[in-house]
Amino acid sequence: MTPRVRVSARGLARLRNGHPWIYSSDVEDRGSAAPGDVVEIAGARGHSAGIAHYSSTSQITLRLLSSEPATVDRAFLARRLRAAASLRQRLVENSEACRLVYAEADLLPGLIVDRYGPHLSVQFLTQGMERLKPQITGLLGELFTPASIVERSDSPSRRHEGLEPAAGVLEGECPTDVAFRMNGLVWHSNPLTGQKTGAYLDQRENYAAAARYAHGEALDCFTCHGGFALHMAGRCANVEAVDSSAAALALAEQNRRANGVENVRFTEANVFDLLSGYEARRRRFDTIVLDPPAFAKSKSAIDGALRGYKEINLRALKMLGPNGVLVTCSCSHHVSEAMLLELLAAASLDAGRTLRVLERRSQSSDHPVLLTVPETLYLKCLIVEVV
Ligand code: SAH
Repeated sequence: MTPRVRVSARGLARLRNGHPWIYSSDVEDRGSAAPGDVVEIAGARGHSAGIAHYSSTSQITLRLLSSEPATVDRAFLARRLRAAASLRQRLVENSEACRLVYAEADLLPGLIVDRYGPHLSVQFLTQGMERLKPQITGLLGELFTPASIVERSDSPSRRHEGLEPAAGVLEGECPTDVAFRMNGLVWHSNPLTGQKTGAYLDQRENYAAAARYAHGEALDCFTCHGGFALHMAGRCANVEAVDSSAAALALAEQNRRANGVENVRFTEANVFDLLSGYEARRRRFDTIVLDPPAFAKSKSAIDGALRGYKEINLRALKMLGPNGVLVTCSCSHHVSEAMLLELLAAASLDAGRTLRVLERRSQSSDHPVLLTVPETLYLKCLIVEVV
């Protein structure tokens, strides 16, 4: 028997408004649900509103799996995985790496699957997905015949689910150095230890966009593995690329050599210190990229985050002259595009620069956005030029 979880009218209204989460405050009776169970969502009069994964510890108690009655078996999971893969086949061009499954946006809440060439790197982020780990691993093996499947369930969000971090090889053999092609360049990644599932794939399309406008002397702030820098190198005289992580820069340097790029120099530094030093010394650049980590991890952190974004954008704008290009990103879900545009406008007035918006972009299309699930949209990337 599928356990039934009774939810309030407000919880049901959320579902009707297209959002797949029901918070614990909207759960009226958990019935016999156990951690990670597939449960039936029941309204007050006992009618069914679909099936969901149940979490015994998270504030997000239920994550909708289907609003129709369904059995979450092999065939169900295979259908969802195939649909996700088919979308990528249509969307992803010129890349051996992409996000194959993006959780809620692929109707598989709590599951992330990234592809790096023949290897898959997977995150099981909820009690429900944790329970399905053997089944999903088996299916991924059958459907995609990868050389290896690596688990990177070491994201802090597992804490809310009462799950310990877990990382390691689930199937096959994964070398510590995986090479793949993306946008005509060669990239190296270590799915076992790299940031997130091994690299950042969400900027893939923005790298190419930035390269279209990049010119002259360029500065890539928060470069990580050199994504923006190495894409822009062909268009620029020189690129200085900065990150505070020595491990990330070692990989960036390996990427630079693999592509025979000579005009990119990687610097280990704190971007805040570096920018204030450069500003004091009146350094000038023609192109600047700002791609910081999420400054606002929660709603309450928004004010501080906006100050951080404003500071780096203001300093960058002061170093750009006429025709200068700024590529500025925010991966904080809580900072909307409107907020980013507003703070950039304020910074441009403070810096005495008139900005023209060239492109307003988001995460790559293999990280799709569900219209009624704002949490699936997190990355903003604005490309502006100084008039
Ligand atoms: N631009 C990268 C992704 C950046 S992620 C890409 O396209 O792949 C954010 C990066 O900022 C991480 O690599 C992290 O090491 C670095 N970082 C975080 N705080 C920093 C700081 N204060 N100064 C410099 N780098 C920082």
